[in-house]
Amino acid sequence: MNILISAGPTLEPIDSVRFISNRSSGKMGVALAEQAMSSGHEVRVVHGPLMAQIPTKGTWTYVETAVEMLEHLSQSMGWADVLIMAAAVCDMRPVTRHDTKVEKSQLTSLEMQYNPDIVKLLAESFPDVHIISFSLENSLDPERPLKKMRSKKTNWVVYNQLESMGSDRSKFGVMNREGEQLMPLMEMYKDELSKRLVELIEKHLACHA
Ligand code: C5P
Repeated sequence: MNILISAGPTLEPIDSVRFISNRSSGKMGVALAEQAMSSGHEVRVVHGPLMAQIPTKGTWTYVETAVEMLEHLSQSMGWADVLIMAAAVCDMRPVTRHDTKVEKSQLTSLEMQYNPDIVKLLAESFPDVHIISFSLENSLDPERPLKKMRSKKTNWVVYNQLESMGSDRSKFGVMNREGEQLMPLMEMYKDELSKRLVELIEKHLACHA
């Protein structure tokens, strides 16, 4: 299978030295890529800055902004059987990107605009790709991730709680759009989740081949 993965945060520049970003180590995306490759799949990763070590196998493309991430993922969607959207994309970006360093005195307010919802746009344009989104929430109530998955029209959602940011272990659940629990909430390491998720994908796609 050809598996496309997004990982890490996006960086949205304010000027030549400052940016806003999301808190994300990128460990989840790296663990997924490693697992998919060790199960024999072809893997491409489009990623922001990662704290985790980048494996030498697979194709890794570094991007900074959400717009760049959308562009690079779009280029690989024709190739992909599966997209796993593990990146922590910034919802907003500054309206103006200054090419020089802005004077401190002028930095008291920032006008913002929404970034494109990457996974939503890709799900609309590529309905044949099996798309998995992530949902990091304040609580483990499945209603919010279910609602988000339905509005973004992704096939599955992996949901977990804020505590998982930067850590190796968390409680994870996986649901499909019908609200069926493909993997009930369980505490596990990110590489364990990756193994289970890749197995679920293999089983599902084999049944629908
Ligand atoms: O809406 P929320 O940010 O909780 O959705 C999370 C999911 O949507 C993740 O899979 C994330 O990668 C994706 N996302 C996106 N584009 C955005 C924001 C989030 O693809 N602008």
